[in-house]
Amino acid sequence: MKSNEIRTSFADFFRARGHRLAPSAPLVPQDDPTLLFVNAGMVPFKNYFLGVEKPPAKRVVSVQKCLRVSGKHNDFENVGPSPRHQTFFEMMGNFSFGDYFKEEAIRAAWELVTKVWKLPVEHLFATVYEEDDEAHDLWLKISDLPPERVLRCGKEDNFWSMGETGPCGPCSEIFADVQPDKPQVSWEEGNASGRYVEIWNLVFMQYERDAAGNLTPLPNPSIDTGAGLERTTAVLQGVPSNYDTDLFQPILKAAADLAGMTYGKDPEKDVSLRVIADHLRSVSFLLADGVIPANEGRGYVLRRILRRAVRHGMRLGFEEPFFHKLVPVLGEVMGSAYLELAATRQATIATIKAEEEKFLSTVANGARQVQEEIERLRQAGESTLPGAMVFRLYDTYGLPLEVIQEIAEEERIQIDQEGFNEALEVQRQQSRKATQEVQNRLSALREVIRGHSELAETDFEGYDRTELYDPPAEVVRLATWKDGAPVRVSTLEEKQSGVVVLDTTVFYAESGGQAGDTGEIIWEGGRARVVDTQKDSGGVIFHFVEVEKGTLARHARVQLRVDHEARLAIQRNHTATHLLHAALRQTLGKSVRQAGSLVAPDRLRFDFTYHRGMFRQEQEQTEDLVNEWVRRAVPTETVWRTYQEAVAAGAMALFGEKYGERVRTVNVPGFSLELCGGCHVRNTGEIGLFMIDSERGVASGVRRIEAVTGSYALEEIRRQRATYAELVNRLGIRSGDYDQQIQRAEQLRQRQSELEQEMKRLRMQLVSGAAASPGAQEEMVVDGIKIVAREVPPAPANELRDIADALRSKLGSGVVVIGTRNDGNVSLVAAVSKDLTPRIKAGELVKRLSPIVGGGGGGRPDFAQAGGKDPEKLPAALAAVQDAVREQLAR
Ligand code: ATP
Ligand code: MG
Repeated sequence: MKSNEIRTSFADFFRARGHRLAPSAPLVPQDDPTLLFVNAGMVPFKNYFLGVEKPPAKRVVSVQKCLRVSGKHNDFENVGPSPRHQTFFEMMGNFSFGDYFKEEAIRAAWELVTKVWKLPVEHLFATVYEEDDEAHDLWLKISDLPPERVLRCGKEDNFWSMGETGPCGPCSEIFADVQPDKPQVSWEEGNASGRYVEIWNLVFMQYERDAAGNLTPLPNPSIDTGAGLERTTAVLQGVPSNYDTDLFQPILKAAADLAGMTYGKDPEKDVSLRVIADHLRSVSFLLADGVIPANEGRGYVLRRILRRAVRHGMRLGFEEPFFHKLVPVLGEVMGSAYLELAATRQATIATIKAEEEKFLSTVANGARQVQEEIERLRQAGESTLPGAMVFRLYDTYGLPLEVIQEIAEEERIQIDQEGFNEALEVQRQQSRKATQEVQNRLSALREVIRGHSELAETDFEGYDRTELYDPPAEVVRLATWKDGAPVRVSTLEEKQSGVVVLDTTVFYAESGGQAGDTGEIIWEGGRARVVDTQKDSGGVIFHFVEVEKGTLARHARVQLRVDHEARLAIQRNHTATHLLHAALRQTLGKSVRQAGSLVAPDRLRFDFTYHRGMFRQEQEQTEDLVNEWVRRAVPTETVWRTYQEAVAAGAMALFGEKYGERVRTVNVPGFSLELCGGCHVRNTGEIGLFMIDSERGVASGVRRIEAVTGSYALEEIRRQRATYAELVNRLGIRSGDYDQQIQRAEQLRQRQSELEQEMKRLRMQLVSGAAASPGAQEEMVVDGIKIVAREVPPAPANELRDIADALRSKLGSGVVVIGTRNDGNVSLVAAVSKDLTPRIKAGELVKRLSPIVGGGGGGRPDFAQAGGKDPEKLPAALAAVQDAVREQLAR
């Protein structure tokens, strides 16, 4: 059986048994900020198990994309050496939400494995939790497994829990022999050697664990199972490792071909090839699901995986980017099951290539830095690279720790690993705190507002209107802050600020980059200003208010009024963002992908992936294209459809939606189609005018465009026009056309620099001319040494130096001290000709003279400078030059 058939056979088998097929959710969890990536088939259904949400069906089957690279399940380090672990894998699972339980789950699994997949009973084992007699007996009853092949195991392997608290229960695992032709060995031996491989885990969720660790039986026990597609395929294809299946062989072959070698010849190289093949899958799927390489969070994990693949490539001898070249072969293997791969292919290739290039040059540069640091340490007689230094190399130069370690090892120098870890942890904490704070604040609010009753998702009815009179609501829920912490209250008094939660609202809560609405909540005898609107991950909408008049009470009948003008401006910017996105994909190509956006009333910001800055021409083309669609005045359409339909229609999705939900698509027919929950104009003509303000880089491979629309664009143009008018006025170049004006401005600039040069020349002439004239008072001779000490007109510091220089050359051999007064400050410069420096030092002179003018300074033997705060004393200082020279000569 081909892997594609196995995947389908699993789904078909359970569909025939009344299960609804759920498409794989994206790798990025949709409403779980605590989890970095989906790591099991049950993750998208967590709320159904917890009873927080109602499942759309009681029986569901799915084949879920999973990633195990962080947190509780982390197989990152296993990948390469292990024949049965990947970072990315597919988990096939059937689920019962309070419907069937143990018996039916075991019966179904057994039937699929032995009847459909036709695995011989002699190749199979089952394990149960040691205390789960029920499961043990069921296996004996249902399967033909002899008792010695139904094994009892401990908590470690056979008791599953969602987290510290929450649903949990015993599980039962099916194992298969991947080398059935060899003589049988004991369970322990086969398990330890990896010959008996766990392919399917059946979890019987039957308890809820509380914070104290107590288990209470759940009223409706549930089933959650997971069978790894790769392992199942290996067993069914009769090969000893996941990597020998048709899921990996084409990729391994392509990678080996590129490297000019053959897979299976050299165990060490094979590890690297496996890492590359595995990471190609995780990197491609992460990119397809909208994760972007970054220095923190999910993007950081992605970058690490990608770089590890490149490092293994380096071991195989690649010196140029190679990883991106493997993307097409993954498409051939998995493209038919995962449409997103084809949809994002170009962008994936471009992003990987850019990352590879950057990383390769980082390694080259960073390696040099490490060498330098090591050299310095050696000279200082040290033998350990301090943690802070390692961190700096790692953080500022982006050099992976492993690379630093490798170099240090070669150079036989130690690394302060602990110090490094500490520095890293400090940095992690800081960035984590920032992103979590908002959600934490909201969930704290939710908790206090909720009190004892449930708090359901708020109905948003504000797509088509911005006012609502007497919205349906049992009560108006209120909270305020006391000593910085939220507290639930029954009234909000005049001048008090707080939070209002209603059952229905027309205020749009900040999400998808669109700013939260502002406006007013009005009731009889009172009014509160809504300064912001936010929602938490459970869809509860919070209105942040300041009561301006009266008292808002729990049973008030309220009117909602969104600031209409602001909302219209937001809508203009939001639709313009979609147009911009589509336009960029035309002018720059399909590798452009949204990396973030912000839609406020006064501006929009759009971040996208692209490997270089845009040329002016490209910016103008983009602007033109957007404005063309504005002028076409196309009516926009919003349509709810299934995720599948939306993607099939070509919708651009940053993150897909969760199973079961219909998704909202915003369409500008003929130009743009996006999954989006935000507010939009009804007709593109409402945008009026679109203007790019700036384009710049914000992170590696990510560009940012800021733009304005509507009256804000007009205002921007006015501001520019006014600035221009003011400028030409002040410069006196108003007449003539633009080209002539630019020419005249250029002339002015040139004239000014000519004048500056001329002034400098004159000043020099003035001082040096006077000094050269015979009998000039300031020139003295001490012991046959010519001395010039004089005050010169104010001049910038660099010019003073030139003057002193000029005077010194005029003297040929001698000592020059000049001083100038400027704005209550004094500057002194001393210059001594080279032949005299053994006897007289400019630095010493300045040290001796500067205290006289209330300052200090010093310098080289031939040249020195000082400042002072006492202009009155400049003549005295100059008068002291002679003595100062004498003193030095006398030494
Ligand atoms: P193992 O102990 O072998 O790492 P597990 O106990 O972590 O497996 P589960 O969490 O029970 O695995 O996941 C269910 C199924 O998913 C497993 O039976 C296996 O088929 C598959 N699976 C788990 N982790 C991986 C992985 N890293 N790569 C491929 N398949 C995996
Ligand atoms: Mg595991």
